[in-house]
Amino acid sequence: MLLTISTTHQPATELGYLLHKHPDLCQSFTLPFGQAHVFYPEADTQRCTAALLVEVNPVKLARRRGSTTEQYLSDRPYVASSFLSVAIAQVFNTALAGRSQERLQLAQTPIPLVARLSVVPCREGEGLLRQLFEPLGYFVSTTGHLLDENFPEWGQSDYYTVELQHTLTLAELLSHLYVLIPVLDEHKYNWINDEEVEKLLRHGESWLNTHPARKQIIKSYFQRPTYLTRPTLARLLQEENFDPDQAQEKYTQQEAAIETPLHFNEHRINAVVATLKHYGAKRVIDLGCGQGDLLTVLLKDSFFEQVTGVDVSSYSLKLARERLDRLPLPRNQWNRLQLIQGALSYQDERFHGYDAATVIEVIEHLDLPRLEAFERVLFEFAKPKIVIITTPNIEYNIKLKNLAPGKLRHQDHRFEWTRAEFQTWAERIGQRFGYTVEFQAIGEEDSEVGSPTQMAIWLG
Ligand code: SAH
Repeated sequence: MLLTISTTHQPATELGYLLHKHPDLCQSFTLPFGQAHVFYPEADTQRCTAALLVEVNPVKLARRRGSTTEQYLSDRPYVASSFLSVAIAQVFNTALAGRSQERLQLAQTPIPLVARLSVVPCREGEGLLRQLFEPLGYFVSTTGHLLDENFPEWGQSDYYTVELQHTLTLAELLSHLYVLIPVLDEHKYNWINDEEVEKLLRHGESWLNTHPARKQIIKSYFQRPTYLTRPTLARLLQEENFDPDQAQEKYTQQEAAIETPLHFNEHRINAVVATLKHYGAKRVIDLGCGQGDLLTVLLKDSFFEQVTGVDVSSYSLKLARERLDRLPLPRNQWNRLQLIQGALSYQDERFHGYDAATVIEVIEHLDLPRLEAFERVLFEFAKPKIVIITTPNIEYNIKLKNLAPGKLRHQDHRFEWTRAEFQTWAERIGQRFGYTVEFQAIGEEDSEVGSPTQMAIWLG
């Protein structure tokens, strides 16, 4: 499979700096499924073309997967597929990230670029190719190929040569190709693993949210939901045989039976939103967003400029997405929202750069040994100016008629804290990471046992 990228931005040979591959050389790279070669069919100051040739080795593949004749007979070695994305990520890693040691400014400048994919399979026809690339501003030209030139009466094949022209940064072009080529590849699940799927989708975040074919694109990655949920989550949680989606759903219903009649959730959300507004936090990341109760309220309120939800459960994220999609928002408002799958006990740079982080009824779901990792992820690395955490007040449980004595409110809760326990923890964090902390009771306050929910607000 062959991808060429050309530019007429002058001096055109600067493309070599952007791709980190010298125009005078032909370089080869070994990939898990074959070889990639980078060379320049033309390189002068007027025009420069870099070629990425990916050779898929069917024998290597068959060994990787267990052999059947299908591998030897497939079109894999010849057409642009998920392999090309993997090759782009490995061979043009720096360019894809928009970095360049020697030409950083050029890497961030839109330049005229033409990408040409020699053969792209597209069973749904060239319409899909246009739907994917035209909304991103590309001028798309396609050439269909006959099934067999010796037998024109057999008609057209599903294969196209595609040329994409646009003025944009090289990183944007690579990111578009990286995310969209696998959409055309119906067999991607056989070849790319779940970690790669995560990486792919993460790359599209900045532009996918406003893409009119967003649903179709994401659906093409999520066609097999179990593929994403089970192994990804097991890895993230480092626990085998744990199906968080199923467990969560059951326990959440039980918790709702206890809390809903008393409007705890409503009170929590009102208190959190009021606090965010009080401190002028316009860019908010909701960690452990669940099915998006808070996100829904934030997104409807134009005060909030950026609203990001993070959850480890792809099932919850899917429900959140469906729910948020039903909000009657103008099209240009959708880029305020991002949903990302992630675990709170792992450092993640996607959590950086927010005014405030909210963590609503989540910490009690974390194992105590993991809580410390979470504290560092949030207060040491992500470091938002404001952190709001709510958690049940265990002292109040005796007032809950639907809760058996001695039980926690949700079966997945690893602990519930008294007010003193929560405040000691919150103050210790404040001291350790240089935040001041204040507390607020949420819901009706009882003179003896306090309020149903407790909230801490840290200011950095
Ligand atoms: N904040 C939401 C959901 C609370 S339920 C609300 O108030 O309605 C707790 C959520 O935390 C669940 O959606 C669960 O999937 C998520 N969660 C639990 N452990 C997590 C972890 N380690 N990383 C990320 N999310 C986690």
